Amino acid sequence: METISKKHNFGAGPCILPQSVMEKAAQAVLNWNNSGLSILEISHRIPEFETVVRQTQDLVRELMGVPEDYAILFMQGGASTQFSMVPQNFLNRKGAYLDTGFFAIKAIKEARYFGEVDIVASSEDQAYNYIPEIEASHLDADYLHITSNNTIEGTEMFSYPKLGVPLICDMSSDIFSQVIDVSDFDLIYAGAQKNMGPAGMTLVIVKNALLDTVKKPVPSMSDYRIFRDNLSLYNTPPVFSIYVAMLNLQWLKEKGGVAAIEKENQMKAEMLYAEIDRNSLFSGIAQRAHRSRMNVTFRGTDAEMEKAFLEFAAKRDIVGVRGFPTMGGFRASMYNALPVESVGILVKAMQDFEG
Ligand code: PMP
Repeated sequence: METISKKHNFGAGPCILPQSVMEKAAQAVLNWNNSGLSILEISHRIPEFETVVRQTQDLVRELMGVPEDYAILFMQGGASTQFSMVPQNFLNRKGAYLDTGFFAIKAIKEARYFGEVDIVASSEDQAYNYIPEIEASHLDADYLHITSNNTIEGTEMFSYPKLGVPLICDMSSDIFSQVIDVSDFDLIYAGAQKNMGPAGMTLVIVKNALLDTVKKPVPSMSDYRIFRDNLSLYNTPPVFSIYVAMLNLQWLKEKGGVAAIEKENQMKAEMLYAEIDRNSLFSGIAQRAHRSRMNVTFRGTDAEMEKAFLEFAAKRDIVGVRGFPTMGGFRASMYNALPVESVGILVKAMQDFEG
């Protein structure tokens, strides 16, 4: 099989996946497990696909250390659908939200359709370049919603609040990147298209006890309990996306799991931030103590220099480093599958550009 010519892909998502996963996925499109059928045309009702769903669940449970009293669900509609599903299920009186930027704002907007929203802290005052502290030891709310990694602003939470209410976390852009204690959370959700697989599937990890608190009638496709009770097969699931996520999680397991990849992610982040801090032409955007290891945001000296560096980098096969339109500058996303070597090549390009 022809392999694709590889660029150094710093895209924020959908993002780079390991080459070996791409090859296995391509093979499955042509002939899945020697079945004479493509993974794209199999029924989701056959026992072999049920096995894929169970194996993918088992890998999530093992790699993240998910306790037995949590359900693992594969849903659709992206993380954005979770913005409304969370309040639809759990907001009875008031939802508490930590406002850390672009995606937190979207979550807040959706929650307002379902009830009162309390923004418990915000970093809007400094263009979301840090994670704000919540000045309370206990909240009066149905839950607290946080975003553990802010993909656009390049900030990351390094500890999670414990404030006496269920903790719900949008972990879309740092899931599987570092060891976490799942029992700190009551619900975690993440779009697959960063560290898990191709777009099309959303992972939800939810504590059964939280689902027992749902008091309102919830339409079936928004009801986590229906997905839990039907092995995520209530309707046609994103078959291909789940299958490739399984391949990718197998790859992660072979690499030594989340603890091993965390070390590599830490190293990649240190390499790039060190160069940003050293190089006279670049400066970091996020405050140092809040810098994301997954999405590194930085600026050049002016718009002209930034344009010139993007062209310079493209000649070295470096792609996906343009900042989000509202942010400008650069953003280098360094998800699990991005090789250390690619970070070295970006660092070298920055050095050579400086001259
Ligand atoms: N939350 C975060 C932190 C994200 O990074 C993204 C997507 N980049 C989303 C939510 C939205 O996800 P989706 O496009 O899957 O709806």
